[in-house]
Amino acid sequence: MKSLHQSSSLTATKKAPEEEPLFNSLRAKTWDEFLGQEHIKKTLRIAIDAAKKRNEALEHILLYGPPGLGKTTMAHIIGREMDANIRVTSGPALERAGDLASILTNLEAKDVLFIDEIHRINKVVEETLYSAMEDFCLDIVIGKGPSARTVRLDLPRFTIIGATTRIGLLSSPLRDRFGLISRMEFYTPEELFHIIAQGSQKLHISIPREAVMEIAKRSRGTPRIALRLLKRVRDVAELKGTETIDPETLHESLNLLDIDHQGLDASDRRLLLTMIEKFNGGPVGIETIAAALSEDIETIEDVIEPYLIQRGFIKRTPRGRVVTEEGLRHLGKRHESSPIQEEIF
Ligand code: ADP
Repeated sequence: MKSLHQSSSLTATKKAPEEEPLFNSLRAKTWDEFLGQEHIKKTLRIAIDAAKKRNEALEHILLYGPPGLGKTTMAHIIGREMDANIRVTSGPALERAGDLASILTNLEAKDVLFIDEIHRINKVVEETLYSAMEDFCLDIVIGKGPSARTVRLDLPRFTIIGATTRIGLLSSPLRDRFGLISRMEFYTPEELFHIIAQGSQKLHISIPREAVMEIAKRSRGTPRIALRLLKRVRDVAELKGTETIDPETLHESLNLLDIDHQGLDASDRRLLLTMIEKFNGGPVGIETIAAALSEDIETIEDVIEPYLIQRGFIKRTPRGRVVTEEGLRHLGKRHESSPIQEEIF
C-alpha cells in the first residue's frame, strides 16, 4: 500500500526531499511573515513575552493539525523569538531512550527541542520524556543485570514543541505535560492570497492578483500546497516563455495538475467517487474505504479526509463516513434514495 511518505500526488501535503530548498527559502521567519492563525499567534506571543519577562524557559507547546499548515515554521519562529537555539528531531528518529538522552543532555537552558510527528514516538522513549518534561531530569540505567543502577541526571530548563497530525494518538500522560495545546486551522483563500503574494515576491515571480486568488482557492486551505502550486505554475510559464502568468497559463497548469475549481485533487475525488459508487455514499467504515482505495488509513485520516470534512463534502457519523449532499453535488452525483433526485446537475 502507498504510505503517507510515498504519496506522489501534486497536492500531497508532505514535502518531498527535493523541495526542501524551496520551502526553506520561503519559510516565514517572523510573526509578521507568518500570516493567519491569529488566535494561536496571539496566545503564543503572550506566553513568550511572559516567559521572557520572568527570564524563564517557555512552557512545552503542542501544535496539531493537518500537514503543511505551518507547525514547523511556527516552532522556528518561537525559537527565534525566545532567542533560543532550536534542535529539530522527530518521533520516529528517536528510536531508543539513549537517542533522546543524548539530545537532552546537550541542550542549554531555554533551548527549544522541536519533535515533529510526536505521535510516532515509541513507548520507552515516551516514558523517558515524562520526567524530562515535568521534572527536568533523566533517569539513566547504567550497567546490566544485578549490578545495574539508575543515575539521575539534571537537565537545564528547556522547551519541547511537539507537532502532530493526530492528537488522538497521543497518550494522555504525554498530552497533559504540554502547557499550551494549539490546533492549527485550514487557511481561508484570503489568507492564502497573502501567503502566495509573499512567496511570489521572494521568488521574483510576476503574477497578477487574479491568478494569485485562483491559486489560493485551489490550495486545499494549505500554505505548502499553495506555494507548491505557485512554483509549478511558474515552471509552466517558463516553459512557454511567457514573462508573466496570464490566465491561460494558469488554467493550463492547474488542468495539468488535475486540480478542480474547488481545489480537490485526484485523490480527493477518487475517495468521494469510491464512497459514492461502491458504497452508495456511505455510511462506510474507514478500513473498508482504505481497502477499496488501496490506500493506508493514516493517509486517508491525516491528509485526504480533513479537508473534505472541513469543506462539508463528507462527514463522520457513528456508523462510518458519509458523503454529504454537497459532496454529491460537487461530483454531479446523487444518493440512490436521495430527495434531490429530481434536481438537474
Ligand atoms: P507543517 O510543519 O505544518 O507541515 P510547514 O511549517 O513545513 O508545515 O509549512 C510549509 C510551508 O508553508 C513553509 O514553506 C512555510 O513557510 C509555509 N507556511 C506555512 N504556514 C505559513 C503562514 N502562516 N504564513 C506564511 N507561510 C507559511
